[in-house]
Amino acid sequence: MATAEARREELKAVWHECQACVRCPQLAATRTKVVFGAGHADADLMFVGEAPGANEDKQGLPFVGQAGRLLETLLSEIGLARGDVFIANVLRCRPPGNRDPLPTEIENCSDYLFRQLDLIQPRVVCTLGNFSTKLLRGDPATGITRLHGRDEVRTIGPRTVRLFPLYHPAAALYTPSMLEILRTDFARIPDLLAQPAPEQPAPAVVVPAVELPEEPALPAPEPQAQLGLF
Ligand code: URA
Repeated sequence: MATAEARREELKAVWHECQACVRCPQLAATRTKVVFGAGHADADLMFVGEAPGANEDKQGLPFVGQAGRLLETLLSEIGLARGDVFIANVLRCRPPGNRDPLPTEIENCSDYLFRQLDLIQPRVVCTLGNFSTKLLRGDPATGITRLHGRDEVRTIGPRTVRLFPLYHPAAALYTPSMLEILRTDFARIPDLLAQPAPEQPAPAVVVPAVELPEEPALPAPEPQAQLGLF
């Protein structure tokens, strides 16, 4: 099994790759910055939101606007801070005018999310809102209203995690009743983190290594702050 340090280095390599992504031509043309995700590279708890908004697009970091401040408050109420968790989104580029992510964009970007899951290896993944819940459960028909606050063990790409759907903090900003539900659901997170890690699927058969020609060197690592890794 790869060490935490090796996984962190690989995560940085995916960050570099993602910065130049042009899989979605419209998003690549309109974004200011790619919002890869940020936080602890070996976090037990990961959050997956929808897509960057205007503030995130400017700063290159997820959840830095009003919804992000609410997320930080809710985290602090359970004794956690941003640096303890990893925060990502379904999309890594801002959809123009904050429109909904398109199915092709979700598909194009899901590979980054699965690689993040594989490298960070969280035990608990909280989806925030409908887009991430539907993507990570693979069930477009069942929405967050029915699913919030119910944890389930799910295999997502290469990892088996405890999935815990939550309302999106942006939806709770102006609806006090929803905020109370979100707060109640959040209060269950410490219990979920205290549960034994879900059993992982058997690893894929490893093919004996062959000598490969030397790869070109990666660009110099970015400063920590810009990577958003703690
Ligand atoms: N909403 C999201 O879903 N993600 C962000 O990063 C910011 C707001």
